[in-house]
Amino acid sequence: MAKKWVYLFGELDEAEAYVGGDWEDILDLFGGKGANLAEMERIGIPVPPGFTVTTEACNAYLSSGGQFPEGMWDEILDALKTVENLTGKTFSDPKNPLLVSCRSGAKFSMPGMMDTVLNIGLSDETAAGMVELTGDERFVYDAYRRLIQMFGSVVAGVADDAFEEILEAERHDAGVSSDSDLDAEAWKRVTQRFKTTYRRQSHHNFPTKPLDQLRMATEAVFKSWNGKRAVDYRNAAGITHDLGTAVNIVTMVFGNMGEDSATGVAMTRDGSTGEKQIEGDYLTNAQGEDVVAGIRLTKDIVLMKDEFPEAYSEFETIAENLETHYREMQDVEFTIEKGKLWMLQTRDGKRTAQAAVRIAVEMADEGLISRQEAVQRVAPEQVDFFLHPQFSRKSVKTAKETGGFLANGLNVSPGAACGVVALDADLAESWAKEEGKDVIMVRPETKPDDVHGMLASKGILTSRGGRTSHAALVARQFGKPAVVGVSDMEIDMGKRQIIVKNQTLREGDWVSIDGTAGEVFSGQLETQIPDIKDRWLMKLLEWADEFRQLGVWTNADYPEDAQRAREYGAEGIGLCRTEHMFFEPDRLPHVQKMTMADLPIERQESLRVLLPFQREDFMGLFRVMDGLPVIIRLIDPPLHEFLPNHADLLRELGDLKIRLQHAATVADIDAIMKEVRTKELILNRVESLHEANPMLGLRGVRLGIHIPELTVMQVRAIFEAACIVGKEGVRVHPEVMIPLTSHVNELKRQRQVLEQEARKVMTEQNTEIEYKFGTMIEIPRAALTADQIAEYAEFFSFGTNDLTQTTFGISRDDAEAGFLIEYLENEILPSNPFATIDRDGVGELMHTALTKGRSVKPDLECGICGEHGGDPDSIQICHQLGLNYVSCSPFRVPIARLAAAQASLADMTAG
Ligand code: PEP
Ligand code: MG
Repeated sequence: MAKKWVYLFGELDEAEAYVGGDWEDILDLFGGKGANLAEMERIGIPVPPGFTVTTEACNAYLSSGGQFPEGMWDEILDALKTVENLTGKTFSDPKNPLLVSCRSGAKFSMPGMMDTVLNIGLSDETAAGMVELTGDERFVYDAYRRLIQMFGSVVAGVADDAFEEILEAERHDAGVSSDSDLDAEAWKRVTQRFKTTYRRQSHHNFPTKPLDQLRMATEAVFKSWNGKRAVDYRNAAGITHDLGTAVNIVTMVFGNMGEDSATGVAMTRDGSTGEKQIEGDYLTNAQGEDVVAGIRLTKDIVLMKDEFPEAYSEFETIAENLETHYREMQDVEFTIEKGKLWMLQTRDGKRTAQAAVRIAVEMADEGLISRQEAVQRVAPEQVDFFLHPQFSRKSVKTAKETGGFLANGLNVSPGAACGVVALDADLAESWAKEEGKDVIMVRPETKPDDVHGMLASKGILTSRGGRTSHAALVARQFGKPAVVGVSDMEIDMGKRQIIVKNQTLREGDWVSIDGTAGEVFSGQLETQIPDIKDRWLMKLLEWADEFRQLGVWTNADYPEDAQRAREYGAEGIGLCRTEHMFFEPDRLPHVQKMTMADLPIERQESLRVLLPFQREDFMGLFRVMDGLPVIIRLIDPPLHEFLPNHADLLRELGDLKIRLQHAATVADIDAIMKEVRTKELILNRVESLHEANPMLGLRGVRLGIHIPELTVMQVRAIFEAACIVGKEGVRVHPEVMIPLTSHVNELKRQRQVLEQEARKVMTEQNTEIEYKFGTMIEIPRAALTADQIAEYAEFFSFGTNDLTQTTFGISRDDAEAGFLIEYLENEILPSNPFATIDRDGVGELMHTALTKGRSVKPDLECGICGEHGGDPDSIQICHQLGLNYVSCSPFRVPIARLAAAQASLADMTAG
């Protein structure tokens, strides 16, 4: 049987039989608009009669070099006959002419990219006939000139400007500012002038035969699929080029036939809040494009209730029916022609994150969808919206239009923040704390001793650094919005200003950063604060918990973070980076003293002072996490991080020597010399600890082995804390974790030290503490020898930040601001491996480690604590690998709960 190219809206069943019954295939064949028009007709919703020319016809036309496939035109003529019968009007008949629209409609919506011609069927004869029929000359010639204008631009490539000039002149002559104030005579003149323009520019007369108009418009829509605009859009949106577009030919209905006519657009629920309430705009006596173009002030759809009570009540029922049918919030277009309501389009409605959550939950509560579907309908990234302030859409738009947008960077910590630029941590802190200013700390990059400034700031902005840079990690941990790696930003510390692409901001000027989008603006944008306690979100996350298999733990160093994470639903601490506590101002001097010490006895002295601090820290964590596991990782970073910067020291020594030359008294000389000696001592130490590649140097377990007293102190602090709070009645479950292990012997040795000290403390405290000893897997060798390592470990935690760094052999601190961007742009890598686990490499190592580890200990507890633990795509990989939990920063816990549920549900559907 010959292929059918044209389907009436009433022939959906036939089309379904042809494609095999799958709705996706109908979308392929009819495009979204055509499929939904046919579906609306099938369920009894009033749709103007019409038909769809399939995407197969479009593809056949394009691949044949511009020939309609055989039989297609005859099918169009047949379909047109049926439409004539249904409407009682006849195409080309001056007495009662049928007018149609010809619209493209691809599978995926491509807003504004594809072409439309309205009012096809108008000619001088039919126009005159319509004037007779309607008695409304103004309406008819307005429609006629619209046809010439659209046809001219879509079919004949006549520049729209030429038509606009004529309209402009006509408005000017009539002394009016709006087209809607032009009278019938004006539109008749415009129609004639449009025809002349058409002829001049296209070198052809405007086609006066309606069938010619229809044929040429259909052909133009086919061709528009390969127009530059459409191709560019598909490239940007990732839509394949071989889908083709369908052409929908639909009876025209008019919302501009008088005060009993109207046209509008609406959503079946509120697209901003999600509330179950129709939201929309309409215009009386207007055409659809007038509503969308925003030339006339539209009316709120609630007013339709009074103005068109019958049509409105029918509209409400239709909205309800559409939702029940599609089980989704719908975005519709409608027209009322002389009191009769027609639906012209329906599709799933766009919505804010907040609305997405509420709609999913309420639809499940209404029984429209299942709870599983509700959980699957909200993107994990949308949950982020509830956790952080956001810039209002309006203020971002205005800033972009008025030159307020400065630059893009990496969006490493979500949320929006405004503040005055402070170029160092001390100033950031003092402005924030003493002067109550909102501050954005702006630095080339941040270091551990910038933390106090970061904490005091509203947000962090750096010109260098990547996704796992210090600034990114700390910002995420504390929920501070951050944009890093803004390479277009130059920081001039001398002049205390920043320069971004020709714009200069001085310290103290306002800047706004969007850590969700990675955007930087000058000035102060309007901010909105969403609510994490949103009741629909809470409900959705509770449902998610029922479906997920992965546990969701958190990376937290301080009790406040742990508390927040628990409120967000964390079920344990997967990583406490103990060294972060060493940077507190009251501890750093002792850490530095310990680092400087040559003799064990001196070192012991500093560690003795540090012990109570650490014990307090751990007691706080245990109390908050009462009953839940707490993984405490022993010290990890290289020691030089605790000492002052080498360049700063050199500069300070230089300054001191100058001061020495100008010293007035012996006492001054003595004092300065004392300072010089101290600084020189520190400088020596900094130089001796200098490593060309510190991330691969004396850090992690190597440091613990190098300075065993440090391990002993940390173990003692953990166990004393556990014993003390245990006696208070807190249920403690400490897990001690060794970082950066690469050989089993490292673990063997550390385990011995730990067991000895732990036993000692428990005896002293006369308390038994159940604990686990385990290791991070963040070096490929550890993953490959995981069976040996598992002999000495009760748990593994994948440190995927380091594991990515060491597997790829690329620096986590530098790569993202450097060549990695090029790699991503050129698609050498499919995604940033520091953001999403590299499934084939890092993922494979994890798989090996799990298999080998669990071959020795089937119950081996395995989790992840690298930044990937909060990334939805990586969470799916973790689920598939069979990890027990993911651990992420407190602010990502809700996202992880949803992503983990979606991973299990995807598995269930696939299986
Ligand atoms: C890791 O490497 O993934 C990790 C969690 O440790 P850190 O980021 O502290 O090196
Ligand atoms: Mg690590």
